[in-house]
Amino acid sequence: MDRAAKLIAQEDRWGTHNYHPLPVVLARGKGVYVWDLKGRRYFDMLSAYSSLNQGHCHPAVVAALRRQAGRLSLSSRAFHNEHLGPFVERLCALSGMERALPMNSGAEAVESAIKAMRLWGYKAKGIPEGRAEIVVAEGNFHGRTTTIVGFSSDPGSREGFGPATPGFKTVPYGDAAALAAALAPDTAGVLLEPIQGEAGVRIPPPGYLKAVAEACRKAKVLLCFDEIQTGLGRTGRMFAWEHEAAKPDLMTLGKALSAGLYPVSAVVGSGAVLGLFTPGTHGSTYGGNPLACAVGMAALDVLAKEKLVERAAELGVYFLERLGGLKHPKLKEVRGLGLLCAVEFREPLAKAFCQRLMERGVLAKDTHGTTVRFAPPLVITKVQLETAFEAIRDALRDL
Ligand SMILES: *Cc1c(COP(=O)(O)O)cnc(C)c1O
Repeated sequence: MDRAAKLIAQEDRWGTHNYHPLPVVLARGKGVYVWDLKGRRYFDMLSAYSSLNQGHCHPAVVAALRRQAGRLSLSSRAFHNEHLGPFVERLCALSGMERALPMNSGAEAVESAIKAMRLWGYKAKGIPEGRAEIVVAEGNFHGRTTTIVGFSSDPGSREGFGPATPGFKTVPYGDAAALAAALAPDTAGVLLEPIQGEAGVRIPPPGYLKAVAEACRKAKVLLCFDEIQTGLGRTGRMFAWEHEAAKPDLMTLGKALSAGLYPVSAVVGSGAVLGLFTPGTHGSTYGGNPLACAVGMAALDVLAKEKLVERAAELGVYFLERLGGLKHPKLKEVRGLGLLCAVEFREPLAKAFCQRLMERGVLAKDTHGTTVRFAPPLVITKVQLETAFEAIRDALRDL
């Protein structure tokens, strides 16, 4: 058995089988590329589910991590540290919001946003205690905690983990009228992905986000966009809601907020909502630690300095056009916005396609059996994108 096979067997024997990875063991990454143990190079077209917008091991972010790791890693929020202030100010400037709440994982940011919306519901809107409701969309993915999976419509995510936390109402995704009709006096907030990433890059109809924002405003309901996957340049705007100028009251950020170097997430939002938390009402031991803030700051610097948002917009148009020219009898649809793209088959061919892609030096992941997402690091060049596209085209021919 070679080393890769041994490592895969070891993981299989001792690990918990909550993932089904492709049989490749990665050892190194740089920019848009990763290398396996044998030194074979691949295009990373998943970017750790859009966590690597700045590319693998970006030198500026690695340097910030190194510098801060040897200086002060964790202060806890019992004391101040020199990076939290600048980082939360930066997050607010970036998003046009008034306050930021730093957390670690995406799910934790979503949990924090749910708590913030409920708190606002009771303290500001006057919803009777214990009655606050949050409206979510069918097909959502917001993480893996018990509360979050309780309102998932994906049986694989939800079943076996009940009883579900009460207080959530599900409406069809992409139907603004259905969402507006679901808003009631006890509704505190709406939680939505501007594009449903895990569902397979489901893009709502034009005008949806704007109409939802309008309905929320009219009904005095908070709107929270989960921009953990769509945010930070992925769709060709800093935040996906900007495509429709549908500014929410809150949004959750994560994934690319640390350029893949460290878990960093945050809720950013209006002072009228986040200002309701008081000492002792919420917290996280690692949230806002100096290492996370230094890494997050460097990750945001890279987005700005390298104009990655503009690059995603420009290359996204090119890539979608190339993908649109693909031909295969079982190909159903190609869609995308910025560099968040997907191809969907009529039959469950996605896993087999990913296997062919791997053989051609492209790493991508199937979702829901029929869809493969293509989300390369935003640092990809046009020439690299074209090379990756040719491999995708050839892999499709092999299928
Ligand atoms: C990945 C993701 C999350 C969860 O993030 P974790 O860091 O895995 O907890 C939440 N929402 C969306 C939209 C995501 O894509």
